[in-house]
Amino acid sequence: MHHPVNTLPPNLAGWSSSSTGVDHVHERVGVAAGPEILVTALVHGNEYSGAIALAELLASGWAPACGRVTLAFCNVAAFERFNPAQPDASRFIDEDFNRLWAAEVLDGPRRSAELDRARQLRPFVDRASHLLDLHSMHEPCMPLLVTGTLARNIAFAQALGTASQVVVDGGHADGVRMRDYGEFAEAAGSRIALLLEAGQHWDPHAVGAARDTLMRFLVLAGALARSQVPGGWLLPDRQPPAPIVVTDRVVAASTDFRFVDHFTGGETIARAGTVIATDAGREITTPYDDCVLVMPSVRQLRPGVTTVRLGRRA
Ligand SMILES: [Zn+2]
Repeated sequence: MHHPVNTLPPNLAGWSSSSTGVDHVHERVGVAAGPEILVTALVHGNEYSGAIALAELLASGWAPACGRVTLAFCNVAAFERFNPAQPDASRFIDEDFNRLWAAEVLDGPRRSAELDRARQLRPFVDRASHLLDLHSMHEPCMPLLVTGTLARNIAFAQALGTASQVVVDGGHADGVRMRDYGEFAEAAGSRIALLLEAGQHWDPHAVGAARDTLMRFLVLAGALARSQVPGGWLLPDRQPPAPIVVTDRVVAASTDFRFVDHFTGGETIARAGTVIATDAGREITTPYDDCVLVMPSVRQLRPGVTTVRLGRRA
């Protein structure tokens, strides 16, 4: 099922050439020393709510008070293929940009449109003390902040003061996400990386969530004071719900996988053993009481694809 495209793709033509030497990557530097922040959008080419926020920030002439903020539009080649009649077709060109972030893959001999671009962006990811990666979701859903499993990232996400559900998730078996790359995933380090799922891709609320989270992230990282945030970017402060720790992934075994209800994520299923889906007639049940459903989707349904994550509230 397609959802309506209610936001227009941003025009990035003016943000191609850059003094960084890498197209669609822009630096803004403050007068005082401070954090080295990287904000990324368009890791998936059809998820452009974050790109709208970055383009707006660049167009406003904004710069941080402290440190350096790098704003990167990642998979622009895929984004440029966006067609509202087939809005899911432009997620990537050759492969998922967000499964390539392991040294052996980046240093390896293989090439693809996404690997070439990841290699261009790698120096900016390597130097970042803080990474915020802006995504959105196929299904209508409350915003989520995906933290990985380290306590410092969970605490940073909770401290942002948004209503976003913090999801503690170890990543994907089929490749490493940018937010799990290198030192971002090392327990001994101090580097912070968060991934925002801002809501449904083409819902105007996803743009609002991306803008709000971006500014809160910059403030908490130390790039500017809260009083220096430009007008109109912040939503009201919220008390975030308790984090959800992902324990299981439900992987489709067939193309005949269906949920028993119109789940949108965040539902708490009270009793262990409750049927939540069927897969070629086989019943999929919850493994424990008070099991929370995270990002249910049959968007890219085929055998081997994750259809929903299951978690517990911490
Ligand atoms: Zn994405």
